[in-house]
Amino acid sequence: MGTISRAIALVDFDYFFAQCEELRHPEYRGLPIAVCMLTGPETGAVASANYVARGFGVKSGMPVSKAKALAPNLVILPVDISYYSQISSAIMQSIRERFKKVEQASIDEAYIDLGEIDYDVAEDIGKEIKNIVKSAANIRCTVGIGPNKLIAKMACDRAKPDGLKVVRPDEVESFLESSRLDQIPYIGTKTAERLASMGIRTVSDARRLSVDDLIRVFGEKKGIMIFNFVRGIDERKVEVKKERKELEKFVSLKGRSPEEALEEAARRLFERLNGMLFQEVGVIVIFEDFTVRTKSRTLKHATASFDELISNARSLLGAILNESEGKKVRRVAVKVSRFTKGEGSLLDFI
Ligand SMILES: [Mg+2]
Repeated sequence: MGTISRAIALVDFDYFFAQCEELRHPEYRGLPIAVCMLTGPETGAVASANYVARGFGVKSGMPVSKAKALAPNLVILPVDISYYSQISSAIMQSIRERFKKVEQASIDEAYIDLGEIDYDVAEDIGKEIKNIVKSAANIRCTVGIGPNKLIAKMACDRAKPDGLKVVRPDEVESFLESSRLDQIPYIGTKTAERLASMGIRTVSDARRLSVDDLIRVFGEKKGIMIFNFVRGIDERKVEVKKERKELEKFVSLKGRSPEEALEEAARRLFERLNGMLFQEVGVIVIFEDFTVRTKSRTLKHATASFDELISNARSLLGAILNESEGKKVRRVAVKVSRFTKGEGSLLDFI
């Protein structure tokens, strides 16, 4: 019998955008593929690269020109978020049908709380998760399992691609000691360099620093986090969030024109979106007589652009006002729906 203890799994779809493209372009199998945020025919940044491309040194965040220079026969494809999110929702739905406590962390990652469990059983569940993902959409993934989110994530990173790694509670110590500091989530290259300049190169070195030392250098939040993470301590829970289906922002006219109020509503809504992609824009108008009219439209592609938000909202408002026979407007709202989150650092490019 294995150890019975809390286990958390992280499932992460391998090089997700590029793998989705491989699915619909079997003719590109075996070739280096880079899915890119393009600003011109061959300019922009790599958002996701398959393993063939990675073999040439292509990485996400890299300029397309550099990627092309590294891999001469590189297949460059534009990001198609709405296609990837359809595949993602199909998989996430299958995972939610099997497990109760699922937290979707991004378009290609989800934490699953397996509860108090025999770690031998947890390992079998890890294989089952890989099968669920495979049969939902023919996507390969990696699963990491550990006593908390931190160890699950690190185990997953270690096992990529198409892997499964279980770190049992009594293995956490040796697992951490075999990890580089920059492999610990949120420490990253820059913090690891800063630590190296202080003579701290390994996890064991970092454990010799007091929490006060760490807070002095990195500030309270990050200092405490580093202190805990190098000890494998992570209290974050798997949070089952109710998926927000739509977001809206209402604004009263207060003497302004409906168009001016709409502009304010769009701006305030856009701030709340914080880079999230949406594919449907709607406008709600409440008239002085409290009748309500709503119009919305689906965009061709998911977007995170304010210009697209406001221009669609304006034309929807225009259409509602045209049909309202001069009735006075009390409040207007802009709403968006059909959200998708970006993969990894993709949102940085938008
Ligand atoms: Mg991934």
